[in-house]
Parts: sequence; structure tokens; C-alpha cells
Amino acid sequence: MRAIVPGAALDFILPRRCPCCDARVACEQGLCADCWREMPFLERPWCHRLGKPFAYDVGEGAWSPQAIAAPPLFDRLRSVAFYDGPARQLVLSLKFSRRRELARPMARWMVRSGGELLDRNSLLVPVPLHWSRLLSRRFNQAADLAREIAREGGGRFEPRLLRRHKRTRQQVGLTAKDRQRNVRSAFTLDSSRADGVAGRPVVLIDDVLTTGSTVAACTRALLGAGAVSVDVLTFALVDPASRTGAGSDFQ
Ligand SMILES: [Zn+2]
Repeated sequence: MRAIVPGAALDFILPRRCPCCDARVACEQGLCADCWREMPFLERPWCHRLGKPFAYDVGEGAWSPQAIAAPPLFDRLRSVAFYDGPARQLVLSLKFSRRRELARPMARWMVRSGGELLDRNSLLVPVPLHWSRLLSRRFNQAADLAREIAREGGGRFEPRLLRRHKRTRQQVGLTAKDRQRNVRSAFTLDSSRADGVAGRPVVLIDDVLTTGSTVAACTRALLGAGAVSVDVLTFALVDPASRTGAGSDFQ
């Protein structure tokens, strides 16, 4: 017979820890007060297209000058936080320290920040890794996040729809033209699943958005297969103003 362990006793045996710094915390999968304060959350009001915060409220649905000057191929981008401090720590721990249990709390934050993108009808498509990288890492962190988002927020998890058949160099540090060349035709759709895309809204999922070239290439492939819309939901967003030093994080 299985023993039932009361919550308080379980806390004593396995104390709840902050996923960033390992300090003891009161609630499961919650950040400690210090990490919460340091987390560079993206808050409304934000650009309707790019999800970047405005300094002041310019009204619902407003576009930033950046979105007006160069509208993205995707419809909307939403992220939980800038790629800095505890947000960067969580992304690196999930990806390189194989702390896959972090996907659940990170996905919960993503559902909260990107709830307006999620619909029962949506296809949740993780940005794929090249097979050689998947072989060495053994898991795709974007797929772990997308699976948890489907569980929490609805939508159909589609981990095998997009394929990355070209191993690309890291995007940070390349010029805009080189970035586009780097990922051009890197993604195609699995022919056995492509029929299911026509007429469906798609939400592309990734852990961090760096330059936007990768999601642009994925978006092009999905729209080409007849997706009615492509939105992008990431945990973190690299702030171009503080990109220095982030390059080595994306190997
Ligand atoms: Zn902490």
C-alpha cells in the first residue's frame, strides 16, 4: 500500500527551492523574493506586434516604430522577460544543465504572458533543433516548453511538423543579411504532416528569441503550407541594447 505523505511533511523531506538560486521558498516552483525582484519581466503596455514594452501607454493595439518600419512576417510576439538576470539563468539551466523540470514553471509564465495567442485550435510548434544537436543534447528545450504549454493553455502539440535540415551557425554577431542567409531554407515541413497546417493558426514556441531570423524562416515555411497565422511565444527576448556577451549562450 502506498503511504500518503502530508504536504507539510513532504516540505520537510524535500524543501521547496527557488528554481534560479536554490533558496528555500514557500510555494512550489515559485521564485524567491530576490529572484522575483531581479526578473526583467515584460509588462504591458507593449507593441501589439513585437511585444516590447512602451515607456508610456499609447493605446491598445499600437505598433512600435520598429514594427512599423520593418513589420515582422509573424503576427505577434510575446515573451515573459528580457534575456537577463534570473530569466537568462533559467534558460541556461533548462538547456545546458538538463534541468528539464524547469519547463513546467517556465511554460506557466509563458501561458500567462501569451494567453491571447493560445486557442484550442492552435498548433503549438517548437522551433526544431538540427538532428545532430538533438543527438548531443538529447532533448529539445523548445519542445519541452511547447508540451507543457499545450497541457496548461490548450492547443495541439506538434513537435514533428517542422524540420531543421541545415545546422546553422549562431545568429548573434552576424549582420542582418548574413543572418537571413544563415537560416534561409533551413526549415521545411514534414510532408506527411503538412496537410494539417492549412487553415490553422500556429504558435511557434522557443526558449529565447535572439535576432528573429530563425522564427522568420520558420514562419515563412508555415505560411507557405497554408497556416492562417503564425504567432511566436518565447520565454525570453534578447534586448538588443544589452546583447553584448550573450553570443556564447546560444551554442
Ligand atoms: Zn532565487
